[in-house]
Amino acid sequence: MAEEKAKVPRQKMPEQDPAVRRRNFKEVPLGYSPETAKLEASRCIQCKTPGCSKGCPVGIDIPGFVKEIAVGNFEAGIAKLKEQNALPAVCGRVCPQESQCEGNCILGKKGEPVAIGRLERFIADWERTEGKMKLATLPAPSGKKVAVVGSGPSGLTVAGDLCLKGHDVTVFEAFHKPGGVLLYGIPEFRLPKDILFSEINGLERLGVKFEVNAVVGKVVSLEELFEEGFDAIYVAVGAGLPYFLGVPGENLIGVYSANEYLTRSNLMKAYLFPEYDTPLVRGKNVIVVGAGNVAMDSARTAMRMGADTVKIVYRRSREEMPARAEEIHHAEEEGIELFLLTNPVRFLGDADGRLTTVECQKMELGEADASGRRRPVPIEGAFFTMPTDLAVISVGAGANPLLTGSTPALSLNKRGYIVAQPETGKTTMKGVWAGGDIVTGMATVIQAMGAGKQAAASMHDYLTIGW
Ligand SMILES: Cc1cc2nc3c(=O)[nH]c(=O)nc-3n(C[C@H](O)[C@H](O)[C@H](O)COP(=O)(O)OP(=O)(O)OC[C@H]3O[C@@H](n4cnc5c(N)ncnc54)[C@H](O)[C@@H]3O)c2cc1C
Ligand code: SF4
Repeated sequence: MAEEKAKVPRQKMPEQDPAVRRRNFKEVPLGYSPETAKLEASRCIQCKTPGCSKGCPVGIDIPGFVKEIAVGNFEAGIAKLKEQNALPAVCGRVCPQESQCEGNCILGKKGEPVAIGRLERFIADWERTEGKMKLATLPAPSGKKVAVVGSGPSGLTVAGDLCLKGHDVTVFEAFHKPGGVLLYGIPEFRLPKDILFSEINGLERLGVKFEVNAVVGKVVSLEELFEEGFDAIYVAVGAGLPYFLGVPGENLIGVYSANEYLTRSNLMKAYLFPEYDTPLVRGKNVIVVGAGNVAMDSARTAMRMGADTVKIVYRRSREEMPARAEEIHHAEEEGIELFLLTNPVRFLGDADGRLTTVECQKMELGEADASGRRRPVPIEGAFFTMPTDLAVISVGAGANPLLTGSTPALSLNKRGYIVAQPETGKTTMKGVWAGGDIVTGMATVIQAMGAGKQAAASMHDYLTIGW
């Protein structure tokens, strides 16, 4: 039986043609049909001790939901999935499955793992498009009020879990719309916003309240939230403070941080000009500095905004690129070039202060550094210039200081992240929990959700038993 299943190949997901999609913002993969999903799900051998679930930070019963898909029982499948995950359509699209659930699937040892992410996406989309979304039944109100600061995946998870326990939850968000990086960072072609809003809408219908344009720490402090009657607070403000290179010319018009570039394009809809007239330089010759997922998103956005050339400039080699292999593959298919072992040393502009040129230095790899990766070493005298009218700096981000800077009772580590107990998310301030990127540094959506799940359980204990 297991051998029979092993003969079924992993089912491909149809995608938009690269030559077409490089100029539009529509989603790239097109999703499984019910028949393909059933066939893919039938490959799962229903392991007694499934490695896949252990590899999932929120502990989804993966063989459970996959089994239901295999027999066409989609309603039972989505119900099982949602026992642990309130944002399945999001996770099915952006989770790094290759290093989590699928990385631990037994079938991957000899062949290809079950396409767990694609199945998760399929079943969540099926529920939404078939109009089968159901609201959970809530217990009697507990009489306790919870504030969640930040509406990214971590905050949304806490909000959903505590609402389901009968608590009165309000999410405060600094921007004018909820969603965190899922909204302002990850572009439409990887995560359509309608899908995100539908999952947020599910939380609203459950009873979660959202207060947008609310910068906690500036407009209202944590102490004031307690005075207003909140019993517990979860802080999930993310790691949105961009790093720069610190080289001359970074203040020229046409040099952006990836954070600003993607926020203007996604959240402020610059890509929908002239419907939205958010200003954003549409470069013809673009460089993106860095090689993580954020860099890939920036480069692919620039290509869709009409660039002639887009280059990823990275100071190490291909082997050290931190982005997911699939993201690099998609970017290259769309015509984005990799300029490896190359580092910008200055930006040059015209008399109006607009970027015109980047000067770079070639690098070589030296000994391994503390991260275990070989250190990039500049090659003496190996400089060259390239015409560039848009540069996006994507070399990482740090702790967002808006709230932590005005809340001395919260202990921070030396890099400015909130110190929280790993198992519970409890901070040094009574009644306050924290989780997601503001505790770990920039990680993944599902890790931020995992932290939210742990904190929600601990907060529920506090609200019903005590600190
Ligand atoms: C461009 C980009 C692409 C990415 N791609 C992937 C991917 O493909 N897969 C993946 O798993 N991960 C990806 N990540 C990482 C992932 O998105 C993050 O790890 C995750 O979003 C962290 O969730 P969070 O809830 O901790 O914070 P965030 O998503 O950062 O949300 C924090 C929210 O808090 C709000 N906020 C901040 N300060 C305040 C305040 N004082 N008051 C009120 N609100 C405040 C912010 O406006 C924001 O909405 C990507 C990140 C970026 C930037
Ligand atoms: S490890 Fe793979 S084969 Fe085993 S239960 Fe999980 S998905 Fe199925």
